[in-house]
Amino acid sequence: MGGYFEKLCAAAGVVPLNGEALDEADQAELLNCMEQFTSYAKLHASTRKPGHVIEIGFFDADEINAFATTWEGVDAIAISWGVVKTLRGLFGDILTPPGFAWIDSPKRKAASVWFYECAKHFIFLHELGHIWNGHTSFLLQNGIPFIEELRAFPNGKIGNIDRQTMELDADGVAAANIFRLAVVSNRFPAINAPFEQQQGIGATHLAMASLAIHLVFRLFDAAADFDHDAKYAHPTPPLRQRIIAGILAAQAAKTGVFEEENAWNIILSGMMSAEDAYAKWAGRPRDDQEFRAAFGPEGDKYITKLLRHWHILRPQLDVLKRGGVLPPIQEIPDENE
Ligand SMILES: [Zn+2]
Repeated sequence: MGGYFEKLCAAAGVVPLNGEALDEADQAELLNCMEQFTSYAKLHASTRKPGHVIEIGFFDADEINAFATTWEGVDAIAISWGVVKTLRGLFGDILTPPGFAWIDSPKRKAASVWFYECAKHFIFLHELGHIWNGHTSFLLQNGIPFIEELRAFPNGKIGNIDRQTMELDADGVAAANIFRLAVVSNRFPAINAPFEQQQGIGATHLAMASLAIHLVFRLFDAAADFDHDAKYAHPTPPLRQRIIAGILAAQAAKTGVFEEENAWNIILSGMMSAEDAYAKWAGRPRDDQEFRAAFGPEGDKYITKLLRHWHILRPQLDVLKRGGVLPPIQEIPDENE
C-alpha cells in the first residue's frame, strides 16, 4: 500500500490499516488477503482486459464494509479489516461442536477457513464487479466519487433504482465468480454423504457456498423492504440473499453442474442451515420470516423491476465498463397490473 492508497483513504474519510500494528498471525493473514485479491484481480483482468490494474488495500474499521472507486483516474478497492476479523470469528464460532455434526473433527478447522474465504471473497468480488462493470465511472460522472457499501444513500442525479440495480449487478459478478471458485475449483473440505445421496454429487460444495454468503447478509439482521423508492442504495439484505441464490442456481444450470431445480433445492438447504447457524450463534430463536418474505410475490415484483431497469442502465454502463461483456438484458413478460 503505497502513497496512493493512503491519499485515497484520506479522501474517502477512512484510516488505512496499519499492518505493522497487527499481531503476527494477523500480519500473515493481511499478506495472504493481499496476495489472494491481487492474483484474483489479475485473473479476472486476463479474461476482460489483460493488464488492467486495480489498487487494493485495507482500511481500519471494525465493521463489515468496503468501497470501490475510480479516484484520480485509478481504479481502487478498499476493504475494512473488520471483514477479516468478523468473518473469521463468525465461521470459527459456528464450527464449534455440536454444530455441523457431519463434519469430522480433523476437518473442522479447514471447513471454518473455507467458509471464511468464501464470504471474504464474495465481498471483494462484489467490489470488483463495481469497477469492471463501469459502476464507479458512472457514479463519478454523476458526482459520487466512492461506492460505499454500508452507509451509502442514493443522492444527486442517481436514483434509488439505479443504485439498487448496480448492486444487483455487482452481486451477480460476485456470485458467478464464487460459483467457479468455491463450487468448482476449491471445494468444501468435507462431504455430507446423506445430503449428496439425496441431492447429487457435489451438492455439499454448492450448499456450503450458499450458506457462507447467506450468513454474511444475515448478520445485518434487516427486514425485507420492497419499496424501490425507499432511500436505500442497496436492495435490503433478504432481497440480496434471494438475488444471490438465483444467480448461483443459474450458474449451476449454465455450467451443467446441476439442473436448475435441483440447484435451487441445494441452495435453499444451504440457506436454511445458515438460518439455523445464525440463530444458534446469536443465541435467539430461529427467525427466517424476512428471508421467506423475500421469496414471496413482493420479492418477485421487486426483482422484476430491477431487471427491467437493467434495460436502461446497461447501455450507459456498456460504454464505461473496463472490458468484457456485461450481463444480457433479460426479456421479462409484461406485468399484469
Ligand atoms: Zn456494492
